[in-house]
Amino acid sequence: MAKLKYEKTSAYLEIKNWDRFQMKRDDMPWIKDYVDKEADPDYGSLTMLQRYLFDGLCRLRGRLQKRICNDPEYIARALCVKGVEHKYVGCAIAVLIMCGFLIPSNEQLDFAEQSRVEEKRAEESRERLAAASALETKAKTKTSPIECEFNPFTYESEIVSKSGRVFNPVEVKRILQFHLSSGDPFWKSRIHSVGNLRSNIDTMDGQVPSDWIPPVPQPLKTRCVAAPTCPLCRGTGTKRVPNPSGEGFISVPCDCPKREEVLINHVWVERTKECT
Ligand SMILES: [Zn+2]
Repeated sequence: MAKLKYEKTSAYLEIKNWDRFQMKRDDMPWIKDYVDKEADPDYGSLTMLQRYLFDGLCRLRGRLQKRICNDPEYIARALCVKGVEHKYVGCAIAVLIMCGFLIPSNEQLDFAEQSRVEEKRAEESRERLAAASALETKAKTKTSPIECEFNPFTYESEIVSKSGRVFNPVEVKRILQFHLSSGDPFWKSRIHSVGNLRSNIDTMDGQVPSDWIPPVPQPLKTRCVAAPTCPLCRGTGTKRVPNPSGEGFISVPCDCPKREEVLINHVWVERTKECT
C-alpha cells in the first residue's frame, strides 16, 4: 500500500459501524470483537501496525464512550505507544481513514450517545434540580479541544465533581499526585480528560489517605569530574605520585580544574565549568 501522509480533516474519528456492533452502555470495561475479523479482505490488507492501531482505537473508543480526538500525538499517548513509535501513528490513521475503518467526524458524540447523555442529564436534574443543571452547563462548555490537551501531571484547576462537590486546584493536584505516584496503574490508565476526572474524582479522593503527604521532589544528583584531557589523571580525578616514604607510588587527588555534571534522565550533563 502506498505511503499516505496524515492530514487533519476533522476534529474526531469514529470507528466504522461502531453503533451497530457494540453494546449501548457506558460502564463496560470491555468491547465486542469479531472472531472472523482476519478473514475480512479489507482488514487483511492492513499491516500488523495498522491492525494494532485499529484494534487499539476500538478499545480507546470503548473506554472514552465518545469519538476519538483526531490527533496522532494524543492517540499515541492514550494507547501508551512508545515514544520512538509515535511517528508511525499519523500515517496509519491516514490509511485507516482511506480504507474506511475510521470515519472523520466533527461531532464528539454519536446519536445514541447524545441521547444517553441527555437521558442521564434529565435524571440528574430531576434529582438535584437547579444545582445540577447549573453544573451541567459548566460541564457542557468545557468540551473537546481542552480535553485533547489534558495532562494529569500538570493539571491544576478547579473541578466540580458529579456529586456537586467543588475541589479546589490544590486538592485536585494532590489527588492526581497520589494516584499518579502510587504503584497501582488503575487510575493512571483511566484519566484521559477533564471529563474523566470530573466523573471519577469523588472515588479517587476517597482513596487518598487523609494523612498522605505528597513526596518532596528529590534534589538533582551532581558530581565533579576532571577533564579527560588532564595529562596527570586522564579524567579520573586521582593521580599517581611517588610515595614520600620512598617505596613505589600512591594515589592522591589531582588538583586539575573540575567541572560539575548533573544527572538528567540517566545521562550526566555538564552544568558548570568549575566545581570544588
Ligand atoms: Zn587531573
